[in-house]
Amino acid sequence: MTKSTSAPSHESPEARFLQELATGVPKVQECQACGLHFFQPRTHCPSCKGGVYRWVEMDLLGTIYSYSTIPAKGEQPSYNVVLVDMDEGFRMMSTCPGMQLQADCIGARVQASVDTDSQPTRLVFVEAQ
Ligand SMILES: [Zn+2]
Repeated sequence: MTKSTSAPSHESPEARFLQELATGVPKVQECQACGLHFFQPRTHCPSCKGGVYRWVEMDLLGTIYSYSTIPAKGEQPSYNVVLVDMDEGFRMMSTCPGMQLQADCIGARVQASVDTDSQPTRLVFVEAQ
C-alpha cells in the first residue's frame, strides 16, 4: 500500500499543521482541484471549495504587510505582532522575536522559522536571508 499524503476526512487540518510544524518542516495545504496553497488549515479550499488536498512544504518567504507592538504588561515584556503576505499567496500572523519593528519594516522581506522552544511549536519570522 502506498503512503498517501492526502488527508482523510476525520483528520483535523489544524492538528495536522501543528504536527508537521513540530517536525521542523512547516507544511501547508495544496488544493488538488485548483492548485491553491492555503492557510489557515481548513477542510476545504477557500477558492474553489474543493475538499481534496495534500500537504506540501511551505515556501518560507514573505513580505511584512503590517505590524503592531504590544506594550509590556506586568512580567510580560513587549512584543510585536506581524501580518506577513507569503509569496504563496496567503497571509500569516505571528511575531518577529527580538526585532524592534518600526514603520519602515512594512514591505520588508522576512522568512518563516520554526520556533521549537515554544510550546506548542510555533512559526515565527526572521529577516530574510
Ligand atoms: Zn481549490
